[in-house]
Amino acid sequence: MTDYRGIILTVGGRLMNRWGIDLGGTKVEGVVLDPDGNILVRNRIATEADQGYSHILGRISSLVEKLERDVGPRAARIGIGTPGAVEPVSGHMKNCNTTCLNGRPLASDLASLLGVQVEIANDADCFALAEATWGAGKGFKTVFGVIMGTGVGGGIVVQGELLEGPNGICGEWGHMTLYPDGNPCYCGRRGCVETYISGPAVERHHRAQTGASLSLAQISARAETDESCDKTIRWMCGNFGRAVAQVINIVDPQAVILGGGAGQVPYLRTWGIQAVENHVFNDSLNTVFLPPALGDSAGVIGAARLAG
Ligand SMILES: [Zn+2]
Repeated sequence: MTDYRGIILTVGGRLMNRWGIDLGGTKVEGVVLDPDGNILVRNRIATEADQGYSHILGRISSLVEKLERDVGPRAARIGIGTPGAVEPVSGHMKNCNTTCLNGRPLASDLASLLGVQVEIANDADCFALAEATWGAGKGFKTVFGVIMGTGVGGGIVVQGELLEGPNGICGEWGHMTLYPDGNPCYCGRRGCVETYISGPAVERHHRAQTGASLSLAQISARAETDESCDKTIRWMCGNFGRAVAQVINIVDPQAVILGGGAGQVPYLRTWGIQAVENHVFNDSLNTVFLPPALGDSAGVIGAARLAG
């Protein structure tokens, strides 16, 4: 049986297993999920990204062969999560911090090498898709999956499917302008959300205000007893509220899932949500904010979910 996209969903009446690969800068991880989303097998190998693009393709191929030795022949379609995104017009990769991928037609190269259909999405989209399907967002119609770490990104899932658009940037709220002429961002613009609420941004702000070099975890842990840490965390939460309220005003998701290291600052769930409520275009805030449920596996599970 095939679905409307022509993807094989069942063979002989049995639902297919889903295959997913998470391509990271240091490791390539692969899973095969059963039809209920349970991990049947999981494997990882080093990316060896310094050896170039063709070598990375070969590493992915070796990983697929490894998985085949454990569970049998590869699926007709494999999902791949990457740090960057696919430029929708050219089909070439962009914004990858594994820079040898940029400008390359990764999906079509992998499709020919592996002899399967390949579906690619960025790692924040994979996180959102996994959490919406089998994690904290299960049962919610519209889910905004947020990654707040060294960068700020996210993905939007509506009724079980990722929102995608002609620019390949859906969910990229980290580069919305929070303050015109604000902090400079690596993207070349100023005032981006990422330069106010990512881990490094908050640490930089605290250092500039106090001269103290503390990690975000340390600043958060001291917020109750140290006035300067309290001020920094309130600054972060206020900016988080401004930024998230803008996304809620447009998408109005039922659930927001806060992933990534900086997303675990506990004050986001109190002062942060209060700040969202102050800025959202409604008298009350009915959106549910949840921690992720799938841990480190969300990326590779989401990649597998792309497969069908
Ligand atoms: Zn930016």
